[in-house]
Amino acid sequence: MSIDKPTTPADPSAEQFSATPADAAPARPPRPCPNCGKMSVAASYPFCSKRCRMVDLNRWLTGAYAIPVRPEEENDEDEG
Ligand SMILES: [Zn+2]
Repeated sequence: MSIDKPTTPADPSAEQFSATPADAAPARPPRPCPNCGKMSVAASYPFCSKRCRMVDLNRWLTGAYAIPVRPEEENDEDEG
């Protein structure tokens, strides 16, 4: 049990190679929050915050989008 190989953190030359301009970044551009209009953040894209994301989700749950919700109670244990 002897590891004599020093682990290198990362190749410095590789870092230079992957240098890309911020303009060409794959990240999505900030857009106004569909809920309040504020600029969105990557963490809760495309909403400005998790709260706004929840608000939008609530719209669905509260019936704004008319979801057929019905209590389904199926306690039938079928073993055959
Ligand atoms: Zn918002």
